[in-house]
Amino acid sequence: MNDAQPKQNLLELDRDGLERFFVETLDEKRFRAHQVMKWIHHRHVTTFDEMTDLGKALRAKLEQHAEIIVPNVLFDKGSEDGTHKWLLGMDGGNAIETVYIPDKGRGTLCVSSQVGCALNCTFCSTATQGFNRNLSTAEIIGQVWAAGRHLGNVPHRERRLTNVVMMGMGEPLMNFDNVVRAMSVMRDDLGYGLANKRVTLSTAGLVPMIDRLANESDVSLAVSLHAPFDDLRNELVPLNKKYDIATLMDACVRYAQRKKGESVTFEYTLMRGVNDQPEHARALSKLMRDFDRRVQMSDAAKVNLIPFNPFPGTRYERSSSDDIRAFQKVLNNAGLVAPVRRTRGDDIDAACGQLKGQVLDRTRRQAEHAKRLKAQEGGVDAAA
Ligand code: SF4
Repeated sequence: MNDAQPKQNLLELDRDGLERFFVETLDEKRFRAHQVMKWIHHRHVTTFDEMTDLGKALRAKLEQHAEIIVPNVLFDKGSEDGTHKWLLGMDGGNAIETVYIPDKGRGTLCVSSQVGCALNCTFCSTATQGFNRNLSTAEIIGQVWAAGRHLGNVPHRERRLTNVVMMGMGEPLMNFDNVVRAMSVMRDDLGYGLANKRVTLSTAGLVPMIDRLANESDVSLAVSLHAPFDDLRNELVPLNKKYDIATLMDACVRYAQRKKGESVTFEYTLMRGVNDQPEHARALSKLMRDFDRRVQMSDAAKVNLIPFNPFPGTRYERSSSDDIRAFQKVLNNAGLVAPVRRTRGDDIDAACGQLKGQVLDRTRRQAEHAKRLKAQEGGVDAAA
């Protein structure tokens, strides 16, 4: 062991990584890794001293070579409807949001994968921030840890967190390795013990990575579709210019076919006069029915209808209730299950599409102001 090495943040590691760390770095038995994993994720313990079933010598060794760094909760707020939002501080002024949405018999946590996003979907509030950086595994699983601690979640016993959706800030497949590792802790009995189908990854349609996900993980897939025609989707989700709807649907079919009974959820945000007309509903129904036919399962395609949540500066508006109902009716008549997602946490800006790190905005404005001042003073590198 090299004492000069930086300490390993154990939140960065899934079961495999933790076992390797114990065996190769600490020269300890594999099962010790399992004990520590339970202390961290089941009991929310972050100091080795509290891990009372480990010997004194091992605790001292851990102290020397490892640490448990969890996200810093900058702010948290509960909504009247039970929705809860945390603003978590990452390094140097970066902040991300995590939202908990309780519903009949389930508690869903919406987790972020990046600070900002590079994909520039025109109806998305996160996109207006631009892309800052990928989150580490520790920062992704740390969101589950922080929410779990706050909610008093005990995997296998007091389960408050029953589902995780990788649907917060960022495109999770652009941060593949860290996201897959974090999802492995979510699904591990020594982690959060969630069934594979209760962890959902939502993508804008990064086709090669959907295929890689099919090989390397086993979670539910959701696709942000939002339009049934390529010209419209090119405008709403610019990634469509690279992977058009037909290419994306092929990848979804491959994903569903890898396992019997697998469905894929298609998210469709309804925007007034943009994508909410009967011709859109009919074309969407056809796409979904084709998907069912190819997967050979009558309800393989699930559609989630999401009324658009306006945010400052957006050019889009929410569809009218009548148009939403009419759209849903077309899908239902085609035999599709298409619930309309209820807007939650409105009073705390936690509703979908409002995941905007306001602290990030503020710190970015401050940084820009400081740069401008420096430039005025003739400082070098003001544009870096
Ligand atoms: S909708 Fe998702 S993929 Fe598109 S810009 Fe927003 S966070 Fe990124």
